[in-house]
Amino acid sequence: MNEGKREKLTTEGVTKPAAGVSPSLDFIREIVAADNKSNKHGGRVVTRFPPEPNGYLHIGHAKSICLNFGIALENNGVCHLRFDDTNPTKEDVEYVDSIQADVRWLGFDWQGKKFYASDYFEQLYQYAVQLIKAGKAYVDDLSPDEMREYRGPWNEPGKNSPYRERPVAENLDLFARMRAGEFEEGSRTLRAKIDMASPNINMRDPVMFRILKAEHHRTGNMWCIYPMYDYAHCVSDAIEGITHSICTLEFEDHRPLYDWFLDELRTSHHPQQIEFARGELTYTMTSKRKLLALVKGGYVRGWDDPRMPTLVGYRRRGYTPEAIRSFWRRMGVAKTNSTIEIAMLEHEIREDLNKRAPRVMAVLRPLKVIIDNYPEGQVEELDAVNNPEDPGAGTRKVPFSREVYIEREDFMEDPPKKFFRLAPGREVRLRYAYIIKCESVVKNTQGEIVELRCTYDPETRSGGSAEGRKVKATIHWVSAAHAIAAEVRLYDQLFSVPDPGGVEDFTTILNPNSLEVLTACRVEPSLATAAAGSRFQFERQGYFCVDSDSAPGALVFNRTVTLKDAWEKIEKRQKSRE
Ligand code: ATP
Ligand code: MG
Repeated sequence: MNEGKREKLTTEGVTKPAAGVSPSLDFIREIVAADNKSNKHGGRVVTRFPPEPNGYLHIGHAKSICLNFGIALENNGVCHLRFDDTNPTKEDVEYVDSIQADVRWLGFDWQGKKFYASDYFEQLYQYAVQLIKAGKAYVDDLSPDEMREYRGPWNEPGKNSPYRERPVAENLDLFARMRAGEFEEGSRTLRAKIDMASPNINMRDPVMFRILKAEHHRTGNMWCIYPMYDYAHCVSDAIEGITHSICTLEFEDHRPLYDWFLDELRTSHHPQQIEFARGELTYTMTSKRKLLALVKGGYVRGWDDPRMPTLVGYRRRGYTPEAIRSFWRRMGVAKTNSTIEIAMLEHEIREDLNKRAPRVMAVLRPLKVIIDNYPEGQVEELDAVNNPEDPGAGTRKVPFSREVYIEREDFMEDPPKKFFRLAPGREVRLRYAYIIKCESVVKNTQGEIVELRCTYDPETRSGGSAEGRKVKATIHWVSAAHAIAAEVRLYDQLFSVPDPGGVEDFTTILNPNSLEVLTACRVEPSLATAAAGSRFQFERQGYFCVDSDSAPGALVFNRTVTLKDAWEKIEKRQKSRE
């Protein structure tokens, strides 16, 4: 796990650098700091986040966003948001809009610096003409299959195309006619003239422009030739005056090409490309192509399904931008790829919500309890603590009455040795209320438990002067007459294997239990007006948030994360092995 591992994790949470101590710099921040010191870019720091608008942003993108916007922020610089929209067949304004919303939600601002690679199509065309004139680019008539054959395998030199030595004038003419739409898709390309024998396959005369008769979401039908990523990207960076062009490791082998284009074009500005390891999580798939297939195939309820690794999915699930930012900061930036335990991310959101989510009582699988000696018709308003982690959060009133619901799993008719909750003849405390004792069990004709008859001890009211004796367990409850019905959606991993990215046909590894919908839940009345997006801790159960499907009278909650910290267990196991 790189950097993050150096900051030692403890079971209480995670050690943070002491106040005033700046966290250690990762290798990219070190480069930026050194450049600032040597005044390489005149003190400027300009980064960019360059998504292709062909899908929604996911948790891996968040790493890149936090890094690029974070570095800009820390250095009084700016991070450009640039849409790499060079492939009109897959791109859409829906994605352009969602990407902006997601970057903002994460808490970052591009300070008005929003660009599109398509803004540079004309400039990219003119630069290509310049390369043709310099004898550094040519129009090729090889078909895609032939081109692949000529390129050869990486361990053998490729062959020159028979069209490689076309005269400049012919190249200029053909390229102009490609632009004018005279040729069929796939019939011609413009290629950089570099070296077909290069050991780096990216340098074997890469394609710069291809013919694509497709409507673009911004330029419409103005163009029928489109630039390739490797050519468009470095030129866009140079045009925008990017200082540090930070990208993922798979582009390391493309760096010589990045530099070749800018050197040959003699752009006034030459950004430095720096590669870092992709962020990957266990049980998480981050290929946009496969995420789209999940949505299109109806395997999830949309891009924002709370089981999706998209930022809209995490948001709907109840994750906070603070938790995601802090997660990536803590994981650090490294130069070797690795996969992070998903439990680490869950640990992070749990820590964040522990500090700020108000506590409430909700019964997910209700079992009715009738307290026979409690006066009929009486209602007491009991004081409940909103957040023990935050004294300023105050208290609220929770109604108590003769009939309450408790969690089905908090009762066992024939309890094993270590079960300390309610059982026939046993006592438990109802949180904020009284100690009750189970006197008898009521069953229906099928022998199923439908109700418990209990008694309470009036001397044991919580917080009262005679709080009374201790019992082994305290359980949550809601007053039957006052509780509100709610639907609760419980989520588990979408995939049943830790490395879903490695499996091509994801339909074979979908977890059949990734969603469980509970429709008969009962929650305390203070939740009646809870707005969509608000987050709570359901005592003893986990963190939940109000789903966007929720409506007054038809509340719907998503479980963000359980209270059990799997990461702490993993850590303990690791420690015991050390
Ligand atoms: P795909 O390969 O599925 O098409 P992509 O990663 O190429 O997706 P882009 O839209 O091009 O998607 O990504 C925008 C930026 O986010 C790029 O700079 C890319 O390197 C970065 N990025 C994408 N995925 C990750 C990841 N898992 N970790 C870190 N950065 C990422
Ligand atoms: Mg990409």
